[in-house]
Amino acid sequence: MSDEMENRFLAKVKKTESCWLWMGAKTPTGYGKIAIRHGLIIYAHRYSYEIDVGPIPKGMFVLHSCDVPSCVFPKHLSVGTHQDNLKDASLKHRWQFGKIGTWEISPMKAKKPNWTLTKEEIAKVKELGKTHSTRAISMMTGVSKSHVHYLVKQ
Ligand SMILES: [Zn+2]
Repeated sequence: MSDEMENRFLAKVKKTESCWLWMGAKTPTGYGKIAIRHGLIIYAHRYSYEIDVGPIPKGMFVLHSCDVPSCVFPKHLSVGTHQDNLKDASLKHRWQFGKIGTWEISPMKAKKPNWTLTKEEIAKVKELGKTHSTRAISMMTGVSKSHVHYLVKQ
């Protein structure tokens, strides 16, 4: 994590008495998002957690104790399982992305048919293929495992 990235991040945070509100771009569900290398977009609260606490264990989610989606205050963030997140979200009616493991927000629609992928999406799958398993990419993008495998091996 470079200092420059960290400063860029903090410049978009408004610290209130209770929460640190993300003033940058947000997802439709109200979570902050930030662009990192190669045009990848990650959740701002996950980014904040990683700056403050460290890498998020594989397959784990970052949950808000304050129930403010745009909050990036590390003290309000904790790591939980997919199950915790689903439970949390079903209670709050704002579960949207069934993503697992990493920071990808869902550039592609869930269960997107292979033949409708754009050039950019194919490039993204290939890029993810350098660091992620076929299974993880499939879960993140909604592209079938066999097609991810095919794209990555190309
Ligand atoms: Zn908060």
